[in-house]
Amino acid sequence: MRKRTYITIKLLLFVLCVTPCMAQFVLPLEVYADEDEEEGEEDGGRSRDIDALKQQIAESQAAKERANQTKNQLASGMASVQQVIGSLESEKEDIVSYVATLDAAMEQIQDDIAAIDASISENEIQIDEAKKAIDTAQKELDEAERIRQGQYEDIKDQIHFMYTTQKATFADILFTSKSIGDLLNRTYYINRIMEYDQKKLAEYAKTVEEADAAKKVLEENKAKLDEKQAELEEKHAEAKSKEEDMGKLIDAKEEEIGQYNDAIGDKEAQVREYEAMIAQQNAEIAAIEAAIRQQQAALQEANRRVYGGGQFVWPAPGYTRISDDYGMRTHPTLGVQMMHNGVDMAAPSGSPILAAADGTVIAASYSGTMGNYIMIDHGSDLISIYMHASSLNVSAGQEVGAGDRIGSVGSTGRSTGPHLHFGVRKNGAYVNPWSYLK
Ligand SMILES: [Zn+2]
Repeated sequence: MRKRTYITIKLLLFVLCVTPCMAQFVLPLEVYADEDEEEGEEDGGRSRDIDALKQQIAESQAAKERANQTKNQLASGMASVQQVIGSLESEKEDIVSYVATLDAAMEQIQDDIAAIDASISENEIQIDEAKKAIDTAQKELDEAERIRQGQYEDIKDQIHFMYTTQKATFADILFTSKSIGDLLNRTYYINRIMEYDQKKLAEYAKTVEEADAAKKVLEENKAKLDEKQAELEEKHAEAKSKEEDMGKLIDAKEEEIGQYNDAIGDKEAQVREYEAMIAQQNAEIAAIEAAIRQQQAALQEANRRVYGGGQFVWPAPGYTRISDDYGMRTHPTLGVQMMHNGVDMAAPSGSPILAAADGTVIAASYSGTMGNYIMIDHGSDLISIYMHASSLNVSAGQEVGAGDRIGSVGSTGRSTGPHLHFGVRKNGAYVNPWSYLK
């Protein structure tokens, strides 16, 4: 029972706690362990090539930045021109809508003119009819006058005849009459004829008077029609003048619209120029990006490091005492058996930490357990790890050579005293550092 509890506690401690040297190590290293390691040849001018490639990439990125700036300036210029087009369009729209109003007014004027013209035509017909009626009336008057005048002349002749030849007439009547009755009868008729003539004359005179009055009425009517005609002609002239003014105004406004269209056309041509220049700039940027991708691929290729083999430089120069070796051990503070995945080299705080071999610094950071730590990728999926440093001399991405000072020994993170924990990972797993140290 007691033993079982003890084992449980031991297991619990093992699960809950981690040694200073194992802590939080798996994740960052596994990230790098995923990287492919390909075969390649060690090149003496490798770092020079890498520097040249990095220089190229920096230059390309600067060129891309400049191209982007130019593009942005072009885009901004184009936006200004587009804004001007917007204003011009808006102003043009105002005029177009004004012209629409003018067109409507023009249509009204032309409708009015058409109505006036119709009235004039109608009035002209009436005037023609009135003229004809007057002509007819005049003819009737002339005829009546002629008849009256003829009657008057006849009566005058008869009276003259009767009075100048009264005696002879009476003698004639007397002697030519076959009888008394005939004589009386004949004088009676003469008197009757006279009476009849006089009555007729009066009637004819009345007819003339009436014809004259009728003609006067017709003439008055025609005068009114003529007056109306004059008024209509005047209205027509006014409307025509309005039409002319409106036509001129519409022409002027349409000319303005034409000017706006020209201006908009010019600006649109500018926009097309901008678009062409932006397209050119985009093509240039795309070309630069392609070059950068190519250069980065070349850099990646050049960076593909291959570990040349051979012994590591001792990372804590002058300090060879091993305070804790690689392998299973009893944890100094937890008292449990645990795997120690590196070699602890006892060294005073501040003493140098050296890069074990040529490589690229892939981490130079701080963690609660590892303290200040450094990882160097030596290629061929070989990574060296340095922990608990008091200070770091390198940063991630930096190339280092074997024996370069990368930091100083310390006791940061979970550490019991100043020492360098040195670990080695190969193909994603910890291996015994002694394989490389001697
Ligand atoms: Zn250690």
